[in-house]
Amino acid sequence: MQHLRSLMTLGLVLTLAGCSSLAPSVPVKDKTYSITILHTNDHHGRFWQNRDGEYGMAARKTVIDGIRAEVASAGGYTLLLDGGDVNTGVPESDLQDAVPDFKGMNLLSYDAMAVGNHEFDKSPAVLAMQRKLAAFPMLSANIYRAGERLFDPYKLFNLGGVRVAVMGLTTEDTYKLGNPDNMQGMDFRNPIQEAAKLVPELRSKADVVIAATHMGHYENGRHGIQAPGDVEMARAVTGLDLVVGGHTQNPACMRAENVMDTTYVPGTACQPDRQNGTWIVQAHEWGKYVGRADFQYRNGTFTLVKYALIPVNLKNTPTIAENPDMLAMLKPYQDFGQKKLHINVGTSDGMFEGDRAYVRKRATNLGMLIGQSMMEKTHADFAVLNAGGVRDSLPAGAITYKDILQVQPFGNTLCTITLSGREVLDYLSVSYKMSPGAGGFAHLSGVELITANGVMLQARIGGAFVDTDKRYTMVINSFMAVGGDGYPVFTGHPGFVNTGFVDAEALRGYIALHSPLQIERYAPGTNLTASPIQ
Ligand SMILES: [Zn+2]
Repeated sequence: MQHLRSLMTLGLVLTLAGCSSLAPSVPVKDKTYSITILHTNDHHGRFWQNRDGEYGMAARKTVIDGIRAEVASAGGYTLLLDGGDVNTGVPESDLQDAVPDFKGMNLLSYDAMAVGNHEFDKSPAVLAMQRKLAAFPMLSANIYRAGERLFDPYKLFNLGGVRVAVMGLTTEDTYKLGNPDNMQGMDFRNPIQEAAKLVPELRSKADVVIAATHMGHYENGRHGIQAPGDVEMARAVTGLDLVVGGHTQNPACMRAENVMDTTYVPGTACQPDRQNGTWIVQAHEWGKYVGRADFQYRNGTFTLVKYALIPVNLKNTPTIAENPDMLAMLKPYQDFGQKKLHINVGTSDGMFEGDRAYVRKRATNLGMLIGQSMMEKTHADFAVLNAGGVRDSLPAGAITYKDILQVQPFGNTLCTITLSGREVLDYLSVSYKMSPGAGGFAHLSGVELITANGVMLQARIGGAFVDTDKRYTMVINSFMAVGGDGYPVFTGHPGFVNTGFVDAEALRGYIALHSPLQIERYAPGTNLTASPIQ
C-alpha cells in the first residue's frame, strides 16, 4: 500500500511537470530541434521608413512577427539578435537620443544586441538611459572599466531544452572612432582574445554558442588598418556556431570561398560566410533586411538548413505592410523629430556662402566651415570637400538643423584615410585640377597648396611641407570616397575608415559648439583654400 502510494505520488509529480510547461533543461537525445536566428545590424536611427518607403521598424515588425508565428506553429524556436550601432544616422532619431529606436526594438522583442561603437556617440548619461530603456541586454564581453566588465558579456537562453549562449563583442577601434570624452576610463580589449577565453566556458554551459558582434566582416580577413573582425575571430577561435555581425554594413553574402558577392541583389539567394566551422552573417544596414538563419539542433550538432536575407520594402522587392501598433507608437516620435529640426542650433554674424554659382568656382566661408567641422569630428589633419556636396547657403542669424540639412541633404558619412605624404600630394594635385564650375571643385581645409603656372608643386599641412615619408589623415565624404565627382576611389585603400558620422550632424555639432560664429574666422585664406599661392 505504501509502495503504491509512492508510485501514485511520483505519477502525480510527473504529470504536474508535464502540464506546467516547464521545458526540459537539456536537449533530448535523438530529438531534432528547429531554431531560427533572426538578425539585423547597424540600424543607425532608421526607425522610420525613407522617402521611398524602404525599410522602417513597422514593416520590419510584420516580417518578424510572420516568421515567429510560422516557426512556432511548426514547433520551433526563434531568437532575434542585433549586431549593434542602433545610434546615429538620421536627425529625427539623433535629436531624441534614439528613444524611438530602442522602444521599437522592445516592441519587436529583441532578445539581445551587441554594443556598437556608435553607442558611445552620445554622453554616458544617454547610454545609461538607453540601457535602462532596452528590455533586452546590450552585450559586450571586451569593454572594461576599472578592471570590471561594463556590460553583460553573454546571455543564456533555453529553447525547449537546447541551451543557447549569446555573447557580445565590440570593435577595439571604438576608442579611435568616437569621442574620447564619452569613453573615459574605458578599456576596449582585444575581442578575439576575450572570445578565446569565453568560448570554452560557454561551451561547457551551452549546446549552441553564438557571438553577436560589432567588429566587421572583412573579405578573407583583409582588415587593413582597422581592427580584426568576424572572419579573423572565427579562424582564431574554435567553438563558435554562428557570428551575427555588424559594423562593415554589408550583406555578408559570398560568391565563392573567401570571395564576397559585392554586387548582391536584394531578394536573391545569399550564401553566408563560413570560417573554421563558424557561420558568419550580416544583414547590410538600417533594417534593409531581416536575416533569417534556420538551424536544426540534433544530438550536439547545429546545422544550418536554410539562410535568407529578407528585403524590407527595398526597391523591386515584394511590398510588406506596416504593422499598425508599431506605426502608432513611432508616429509621435517622427512628428516631434521633424518639429525639432526647426529649433535653433546656433547663430552667426553673417551669411555662409553656398550658392552654386560661387561655391563651385572659388573657396567660400561655408566650404571652410564644413571642412573645419569634418576635421574636428574626425581629428583629421586636413579635409577635402567637393563643391557639389554643398547645396545651399547658411543664413545670417539663427541657424536651424533644417538649414543645415539644406546645405548637406545627402546623409553622406565622413571617411578618413591614412595616407603617406606621397599619396597626400597625389590626391591634392587631383583636387587642384578639378575644374571650376564642376561639382568636383575642391574646398580644402587645414592644407595650403604651393602652385605655379597651374601646377601644384607642394603643400603645407600644419605649417610644414608635406613629408613624403610621414603619414597624414585626410577626411572626405563617402560620396567622394566611392569615386564621386571624379575623385579617386578610396574604399579599398588599407587606410580607409568610414567613421559612420553623418556630415550634417558633424556640422550641426560644430555650429552648436562654436556659436556665435564669426564669418571672418572662416574667410577663405591662402592657407586654407585651393587658390594658387605664388
Ligand atoms: Zn560600427
